[in-house]
Amino acid sequence: MSLLEQVARVFAPEGPLARVLPYFRSRCGQMEMASAVAHAIDEPTRLVVEAGTGIGKTFAYLVPALLSGRRVVVSTATKALQDQLHGRDLPLLQQALALPLRVALLKGRSSYLCRHRLDLARRGEIAHPADLERDLARIGQWAQATQTGDLAQMPDLDEHSPALPLVTSTRDNCLGADCPRFHDCHVYQARREALAADVLVISHHLFFADLDLRESGMARLVPGAGVVIFDEAHQLAETAAQFQGTQFGSRQLLDLAQDLHGAGLRWAPGLADWQGLRDGLRQAARTLCLLTADAGEGEGEGGLVRRSWLGPAPDGVDAPSWAEVLHVTVCALRAALTALDGLAALGPDLQQLHQRSVDLLQLLAHFAEPVEAGSVRWLEQTPTGHLRMVDSPLVVAAALRTLWPGRPVQQGAWEDDDDGNEAQVADALSWVFTSATLGDDATLGWFTQACGLEDARILRVPSPFDYARQAALYVPPQLPAPTDPDHSEQVAQWVGEAVSRLGGRTLVLTTSLRALKVIAAVLRQRFAPGSGVEVLVQGQAPRRQIMERFRQHSGAGDCAAGRVLVGSASFWEGFDVPGDALQLLVIDRLRFPSPGDPLMRARSERLALQGRSAFRELALPAAAVALKQGAGRLIRHEGDRGVLVVADTRLASRGYGKRLLRALPPMRRLLTQQEFEASLDALTRISTTDCPWT
Ligand code: SF4
Repeated sequence: MSLLEQVARVFAPEGPLARVLPYFRSRCGQMEMASAVAHAIDEPTRLVVEAGTGIGKTFAYLVPALLSGRRVVVSTATKALQDQLHGRDLPLLQQALALPLRVALLKGRSSYLCRHRLDLARRGEIAHPADLERDLARIGQWAQATQTGDLAQMPDLDEHSPALPLVTSTRDNCLGADCPRFHDCHVYQARREALAADVLVISHHLFFADLDLRESGMARLVPGAGVVIFDEAHQLAETAAQFQGTQFGSRQLLDLAQDLHGAGLRWAPGLADWQGLRDGLRQAARTLCLLTADAGEGEGEGGLVRRSWLGPAPDGVDAPSWAEVLHVTVCALRAALTALDGLAALGPDLQQLHQRSVDLLQLLAHFAEPVEAGSVRWLEQTPTGHLRMVDSPLVVAAALRTLWPGRPVQQGAWEDDDDGNEAQVADALSWVFTSATLGDDATLGWFTQACGLEDARILRVPSPFDYARQAALYVPPQLPAPTDPDHSEQVAQWVGEAVSRLGGRTLVLTTSLRALKVIAAVLRQRFAPGSGVEVLVQGQAPRRQIMERFRQHSGAGDCAAGRVLVGSASFWEGFDVPGDALQLLVIDRLRFPSPGDPLMRARSERLALQGRSAFRELALPAAAVALKQGAGRLIRHEGDRGVLVVADTRLASRGYGKRLLRALPPMRRLLTQQEFEASLDALTRISTTDCPWT
């Protein structure tokens, strides 16, 4: 039986899936995608699938891949999808298809407990505030029982706990085979299982780290795979750019300072002034951060500020002062290096610290040189006050094209890309790239051009949802233009009215942290505790906890359980709220990339030199993809009903608004406030099993 016939049998109304899953229904779109994936595996070739919400894309790629008998690697952008694939979808399919496959999940090393660092922290050899002792003791207790070391499995551990950097490793500080805990290391145990697996679930970050051999001492995972599938592929180019670039951060300096102090006192007490060396590195990191913190406003999203860096110093930073701080940093690193010289034999930590100091000095030397042609440089300030120097390639398509050549190549071979750079070739035969949103035109040019996939096979499978019946779109004409300084305030007031009318069940997605703060403040003032509506705001608790709380809605018409959630970038995707908990989705403004962002600016200038329009080719498709992503939160099931509000009049008034509107699913348009309010009233009256507008 051919692969295509096997796939058709699995998805048939009386097939194995229907027998195992009581809710399974055969869907045309799902079968169309599964057939295309089967073809891509048979041929083999590269396939790009934009799979509309609700078609069941996960099974559509997993079934043919599992039935192919080849080794399968599935890569995702988020841990949430990794966990869903490994914990739910793959076990279910193994049962349905009766396939005895070895399945493994491999996360980034920061997800796993590092036993060596836990030992050091508990012995006080990694300095830490006393109030973390309790967390360390709890982690220590959990460490005795865990099989996987996956910290996400530890109950009640905050994903942002300050104890986590103490008990997880980085590529810089891992001792690898020299580690005293190498024999029971969770990171390496997970790697070994990954290498032995028939089906491996990884992240895009790991995929590129693995190809880059940045994880020293670890074998490559992708060679030997017959099928590689990228879900959430819309994030692929961005992730690739990070790995092709160069970065140096204040965090690395501070980590080095801390580890140097701990290891120095342990392995070589009295042989150097370890405390003085630590303080010198810390002072250098602090001065770097302070100098740039005073440099005025930059461009950024999600609290991250990017500052262009075209000359000898980042924009707004005094060049002589910058040179002086870099010199001080180099001196601090050299002092550490001198102290470590000749001590490597005393302990593996010292040997590794020596190498880290050399690496950091090389990185600083890199950033002291002018930026290379084809790259763009900027300085990044994180919301936690850290600093990162970044060199990023302007275009990654040429390098990526060599990764998925669509033909068998020699394992581990290296090829030159179009620019003569060395790029490593993976030897999987079939490549599948999928996401609910990959562009806004038939060629999916936004995605395929960025990823070097212009000649891949393209398939767009529309969502099976009846959007005209299930959803409506409203662009309130009375709100000010998004450039108006009062825009966020007025959006918040308007949303408050709508939330009162609906009794909660509202998600507000903002494009900036500033708008998030303004809108959250207004809503919190209006809906005080006891008002019947609870206001949840990104940042007030771990994201997972906020999402769970928002989903806990007790049913339509129950105003006492009403909730409104205000979230920014991290809530625009990967956040599913099926059912009544979400019926009004408000997007505060169109999400164009900032023209002042260094990367965007450099890419725009490059296109302008070629006589092309950066707005049409970069900004507009990016805004369309973001709008589709955000809007996709509203309808997750056939039974869902809701209203999407885009509080940005440009969508209705500007010529380009038509292109953006075409990117959205075909929702019914509401033209007046009366129509909008009538729709909300209808949603409050009925349960979601009935349709308000038919
Ligand atoms: S090998 Fe690396 S990750 Fe594993 S315990 Fe040792 S330092 Fe930690």
